[in-house]
Amino acid sequence: MPCLDAYNRPISYLRISVTDRCNLRCIYCMPPEGVAWRPHEEILRYEEIETVARAAAEMGITKLRLTGGEPLVRPGIVDLVRILAGIPGIDDLAMTTNGILLARYAAALAEAGLQRVNVSLDTLRPERFRRIARRGRLEDVLAGVEAARRVGLTPIKINTVVIRGMNDDEVVDLARKTMQEGWNIRFIEVMPVGNGVLRSDTWHDRVVTGSEIRQRIEAALGELEPAKMRIGGGPARYHRLPGASGTLGFITPISEHFCYRCNRLRLTADGQLRPCLLSDQEIDLRTPLRCGAGVAEIKRLLRRGIEIKPMRHHLGECRMPENRVMSEIGG
Ligand code: SAM
Ligand code: SF4
Repeated sequence: MPCLDAYNRPISYLRISVTDRCNLRCIYCMPPEGVAWRPHEEILRYEEIETVARAAAEMGITKLRLTGGEPLVRPGIVDLVRILAGIPGIDDLAMTTNGILLARYAAALAEAGLQRVNVSLDTLRPERFRRIARRGRLEDVLAGVEAARRVGLTPIKINTVVIRGMNDDEVVDLARKTMQEGWNIRFIEVMPVGNGVLRSDTWHDRVVTGSEIRQRIEAALGELEPAKMRIGGGPARYHRLPGASGTLGFITPISEHFCYRCNRLRLTADGQLRPCLLSDQEIDLRTPLRCGAGVAEIKRLLRRGIEIKPMRHHLGECRMPENRVMSEIGG
């Protein structure tokens, strides 16, 4: 049974950032000058991640997601997937990736026990991709999505961060993909976490709310119906366009926070347990791990993290997380 936090929320999901490094530099995630990567010795080793995951599983966590930075740039990532897939109690093992290297790794990841992937994709236009991601090629991401589909890393979810004046004119084209290609797309309201384009005084102007996106899609393509997704009950609610095989979701941390049903903890690449994405509060797991802490001691620290998990974020009152950029936390 999952542990309950102080607000009676069952905590069943751990997101593990395996690296702060990335092969892209998305404008909403990293500042223009990039970020200084942490030295290797600060990053948790695979056996340390395994200890945390085993402790989490013993406490009723059933779902793990590997994220980053870009998880596929960390050497040996397939080995980590194999280790985590073998932990008793974990019944959902997923990854969030930018897709650039996915075509290369999809088959090995599936064979090692990864169940599914979320792929981040903000535009269908190659030149715009370069503007948003600052490097990399759209065609590699699309090849990654196709490879993941072929090897059964499904259902694949496409994550699209919508930024006014940057890609909001594409929401209808992207929504059409749920009909044409059966994509499952989630539109995400951009959050002001340690980034460049979203200067703290103007970030609000860049947010396109879930309801505005929905209105634009419905005006062009018809009314959405509620839809059920098979797995991965994350914070998005799902919908379907008439006749579409794929689904649409809206992740609305800004306009309609979903903290009351948050079920997750986060582990940063440098081994800090972060009970809330949008709060700077963290518990150090790396130091105890390197002093010999085993599963029992890590369970005690995870319990502490669950106890201090805040009720909700406070972006509305202009309290922003400040100590990290998104690529260090893993989204
Ligand atoms: N590199 C991988 C990727 O891009 O999918 C995994 C890490 S990335 C930090 C995880 C997710 O966070 C991505 O879907 C990304 O679009 C999202 N993200 C990053 N910065 C964000 C921001 N400022 N607001 C909303 N979502 C953000
Ligand atoms: Fe890298 Fe993902 Fe951040 Fe883009 S969103 S810079 S791909 S970590």
